[in-house]
Amino acid sequence: MGTGAADGIPRIRCKCAHCQEARNIAIKLEKGKIPWEYVRIKKRILRKRTSVLIESKDTKILLDVPPEIHRFLNEYSIDDISAIFLSHKHFDHISGLREFEFWDGTIDFYAGSDVIPIAKGFVKSGEDQNNNDFHFYELRPRRLISLKNFEVIPFRVKHKVPTFGFLFEEDDKKLMHFSDSTSEFSDWHIKKMEKANVVVFHTTTFDKVSSDHISVKDVLDLISYCEIKKIVLSHINHENLPYEKLVKKLSSYSNIVVAYDGMEIVI
Ligand SMILES: [Zn+2]
Ligand SMILES: [Zn+2]
Ligand SMILES: [Zn+2]
Repeated sequence: MGTGAADGIPRIRCKCAHCQEARNIAIKLEKGKIPWEYVRIKKRILRKRTSVLIESKDTKILLDVPPEIHRFLNEYSIDDISAIFLSHKHFDHISGLREFEFWDGTIDFYAGSDVIPIAKGFVKSGEDQNNNDFHFYELRPRRLISLKNFEVIPFRVKHKVPTFGFLFEEDDKKLMHFSDSTSEFSDWHIKKMEKANVVVFHTTTFDKVSSDHISVKDVLDLISYCEIKKIVLSHINHENLPYEKLVKKLSSYSNIVVAYDGMEIVI
């Protein structure tokens, strides 16, 4: 649903070319000044913070809860959620939990032991205590979770704070989501990547400028020795290339897809 890094695009107050272009496009879209045939492509420069909805039959799994979650829940008509998985405690991944004060239903939350107290604080801090029925379960590395038709394997990734990636499996379909992670992978990671139908990386930047995140260049290095069927690049910020330029730059890689807000992938 969202594909931006913590600051989103445009980043507030930023005057860089990427953010200025995004801001101009947002204004033009608002005023209906972009010809309809370009609207679909042009709006992809704008990025709300990262969140993924994984759907199958009667199961809906939400992965991470950014500040835009109110908008996402309404826009995508999400009235029931089987489970929410939280990758780590950074602001852009959990701060939208505060909205769940107004959720009058059942949800199972899965998070690391350091995230559970924070998540509980968010969802229970409001005054409008509806009849919500929330359950919290602690994630353990590689301890399998059975969730209706899904099997979910949480696994550790390297990041500034304790962080989980997730492998979602349904029958022979496999989605591997790394969330915020460096490019330091174990043999287990590599083996699972090669078996997955889709692997999602959070490539905040194009070049390596941060030691906490894999970059687009790191992904290109990775695929020189690791065979991955389909890669989705998400969690992108203003230091990366704008959507259209990034797509063009990667056009020779048939297995790499640049994510955009609202993108749907069928596995
Ligand atoms: Zn993040
Ligand atoms: Zn900027
Ligand atoms: Zn993070």
